[in-house]
Amino acid sequence: MLTEFNLIERFFNRQQASGQLTLGIGDDAAVIAPDPGAELVVATDAIVNGIHFPVYTPPHAIGYRSLAVNLSDLAAMGAVPRWASLALCLPDADTEWLEQFADGFFDLADIFNVSLIGGDTVSGPLMASVTVHGEVGKGMAVTRSGANEGDGIYVTGHPGDAVAGRLVEGTNDADHYLADRFLYPVPRVMEGQALRNVASAMIDISDGLHADLGHVLNQSGLGAELDVAALPLSNELRSSVGREQAQAMALTGGDDYELCFTVPDEHQSQLQELVDSFDCAVTRIGTCVATEESEAVWRLGQNIYQVPDSGFEHFSDEGQEEAL
Ligand code: ADP
Ligand code: MG
Repeated sequence: MLTEFNLIERFFNRQQASGQLTLGIGDDAAVIAPDPGAELVVATDAIVNGIHFPVYTPPHAIGYRSLAVNLSDLAAMGAVPRWASLALCLPDADTEWLEQFADGFFDLADIFNVSLIGGDTVSGPLMASVTVHGEVGKGMAVTRSGANEGDGIYVTGHPGDAVAGRLVEGTNDADHYLADRFLYPVPRVMEGQALRNVASAMIDISDGLHADLGHVLNQSGLGAELDVAALPLSNELRSSVGREQAQAMALTGGDDYELCFTVPDEHQSQLQELVDSFDCAVTRIGTCVATEESEAVWRLGQNIYQVPDSGFEHFSDEGQEEAL
């Protein structure tokens, strides 16, 4: 019988290369030593079986994803990730499952030098809640509220892929690519940090590009004019669902964990230099405008494009999956 103590020791108390950790797993709480000049940036996101991932999701992908969605939030603030804690709710102590979950978690943690410093393990329906701590220089975090009239609006990667990947059931190359985009989203950690000096506002698009851009516009007190034809649709998404559906998915799909950000004119050339060093595409999709209402107006050719109501509800039978 695996006790809670044994379980933590066996699967989660790994030696990890990290400075700034005074005391890790095994005491009542961890002790960390942030850089004296830095501000701490903290985010928590929980993922629940059957809601945020389908019940048949491989445990390696669940472990990876539980951290990825959190690193994406730190990326959107321009922060450097440092420490994570993990609250795990398990229906049973299945060692095979735990091994794969932990491997998925640490595979990603190791890429970004994140130390797992503690957590909690309880029994109940499957859920993983991760809290991440990152650092940023004083006053340097990129918020949602800093956009200004005339700023360009950009998005990283290929939004829409993840929601399609959640729904595909095929076995061709495009389906595999899309499924991977859902199971293993790449948090844009390095890109977020690099954008700290050029972006006026930033958000990660976990709930869909249109909805999340709406938060930036609301909090910045602006409207926006955007071009549906400029959306960076992947070839795989287009070939899998067709252009029209691909556009709708890119705008409302969710789960992409890409960054949407605004850049003032004076930083455009700096942005172009940065983009060359990125692992992902960066595409300009619109411009911030001063309007009474903080509304994103999408155009397709000469016409106003009506953005479909919501993502998951729209694309699947599973109405309860409306992202919270
Ligand atoms: P307490 O009862 O004092 O809260 P626990 O027995 O819950 O302590 O936890 C013991 C140690 O194991 C603590 O350092 C805690 O942070 C860590 N821990 C518990 N669960 C996990 C987990 N899933 N991942 C990483 N560390 C964990
Ligand atoms: Mg205690």
